Amino acid sequence: MPLIVQKFGGTSVADTQKILGAARKAIRAAQAGNQVVVVVSAMGKTTDHLVSLAKEITDRPSHREMDMLLSSGEQVTIALMAIALESLGYKAVSMTGAQIGIKTDSSHTKARIRSISTDSMRKALDAGKIVIAAGFQGIDDEGNITTLGRGGSDTSAVALAAALGADECEIYTDVDGVYTTDPRLLAEARKVSQISYDEMLELASLGAGVMHSRSIEFAKKFGVTVHVRSSFTDTPGSLIVGTPESNTAVAGAAIAKNEARLTLVGVPDKPGNAMRLFARIAEAKIATDMIVQNIGQEERTDISFTVPGNDLTATLDVLKTVSEEIGAERVDYQKNVAKVSVVGLGMEKQGGVAEKMFRAVSRKMINISMITTSEIKISTLVSWEDAIETLRAVHSVFQLEKTPSQLHSQELSVKPAKQVKPELDVARISGMEDILIEAIHLDQAQARITMPNVPDKPGIAAEMFERIAEAGIVVDMIVQSCGRNGKAIITYTVPRTMLDIALGVTKKLAGEWKSDEPLHNPTVAILSVCGTGLRSHTGLAYRMFKTLADGGINVNIISTSERNISITVNNAQGKHGLQLLKKEFANDMI
Ligand code: ADP
Ligand code: ASP
Ligand code: MG
Repeated sequence: MPLIVQKFGGTSVADTQKILGAARKAIRAAQAGNQVVVVVSAMGKTTDHLVSLAKEITDRPSHREMDMLLSSGEQVTIALMAIALESLGYKAVSMTGAQIGIKTDSSHTKARIRSISTDSMRKALDAGKIVIAAGFQGIDDEGNITTLGRGGSDTSAVALAAALGADECEIYTDVDGVYTTDPRLLAEARKVSQISYDEMLELASLGAGVMHSRSIEFAKKFGVTVHVRSSFTDTPGSLIVGTPESNTAVAGAAIAKNEARLTLVGVPDKPGNAMRLFARIAEAKIATDMIVQNIGQEERTDISFTVPGNDLTATLDVLKTVSEEIGAERVDYQKNVAKVSVVGLGMEKQGGVAEKMFRAVSRKMINISMITTSEIKISTLVSWEDAIETLRAVHSVFQLEKTPSQLHSQELSVKPAKQVKPELDVARISGMEDILIEAIHLDQAQARITMPNVPDKPGIAAEMFERIAEAGIVVDMIVQSCGRNGKAIITYTVPRTMLDIALGVTKKLAGEWKSDEPLHNPTVAILSVCGTGLRSHTGLAYRMFKTLADGGINVNIISTSERNISITVNNAQGKHGLQLLKKEFANDMI
């Protein structure tokens, strides 16, 4: 008998009428001949309310007790949903995470699923019952209740679908599908018919709140088809599957409105310091993004990165300790910054996306304070006030409002494809959320150019990368951050064969802008680790840095995405670095 998992989010179960509406959807699926598992969130804004109650008492409530508190929200909904189904004449049984046997680690408030036992659910399903499972929660080995992080019911639903081998996982929510960007922010956003796992994972991780990013990790790993659709209509929604909607360069744009930028200023430039910093942050389970390590001045460098605004206090606590340990000069930070990103698998094959994005933003006279790129995404950091305007400009320049068939041929140059993905062998993993590494690459044919002291004003990145593109050069990694004197520092890599031309263009620009001569390193290697969920597994970047630092290898540019973490090192150390990484990750490879 086919099995279907249906998940209803907070707004979809906000009151008893809505719970009855959701119950009717489950009944229809059962009447169509499916076994049905329903996963629910807490009603409406219950979780927010519970959080604020705790915050009325203290700013730093214990994580264990927060889990005890927050898990109560879902427990209310499962009971009401089961009561609703029974009142409509259907057999149903509600189950908490513990009753199902959703085993997690003990990282309270951010727990990861280790295993799910399907026995009790199967028994109930085989007895003709609709199973109602509490989303967002699990239990650790000591019997403590844990939660998976805000928005985690999506992850519960997809994980249950994976464990049960469900035919489909339907995510019922208050929008009727996945849009090219948050439709509440931009009216012109377009509903996509389908989107690939990689794109959705990246968009979710970069701020598209429609799905909890970890749910997409499960979907990709276990091949679950996810159907995001409306709780309030019957129209088909969007499918999250293995292949993208089209081969256009950009599939969607995401915004993370509440970000914070932190900089550790004046870090002694030696292997191991970046490692120590990210080790401590990883221990605190904080996901960092937009990591930029500036080139050293007087044997000291600055390391900047962003974290979700909610993690700022915890990150500052960590930085204070680390800063003393490694002898950094000081910690700088900026609140109220927003990250606007574009994502697309097509970017791997088409160049020209970065400069197009930077130009669109500069036309609005908006200043970009940081840039990082990876193979399928480009992120820019702007001030909070400029965030929506930036998103609008970017959405429009890539014509995301148009269905791919309406688009004429893309006027973008073609880049060679980088990697072929092997099939995942999930049987090898011990924990359901374990990291899976697919490949480790070494690209030894790169060179690096750095423009220090660039005037920090709108349009510089656009100008620079347009001029470089006009010279026929395809740039790989780009990072921009703010230097100590308030001026920008832009670093990028190019194939070594293109170094002279790129350097020529960059020197000319330096002359026009009256900034310092560009610096360059003609022999650079890029080491990349590819897999799934790499950024949100906070320990992975740290393991890369530590492995290389222990081998005496200094890390230069870092680029992270959910699929790929790449770093540049001196070419002479590339092969050694590759060997070290292959050894370190031997047990995580599929
Ligand atoms: P639920 O409570 O059902 O889990 P969420 O509020 O977590 O619902 O997610 C749905 C919301 O996600 C939508 O109301 C929408 O504003 C937001 N959202 C953000 N990005 C996107 C996107 N790309 N497509 C659709 N919705 C998005
Ligand atoms: N109720 C939890 C939250 O609000 C989990 C969820 O809704 O997905 O974060
Ligand atoms: Mg949600």
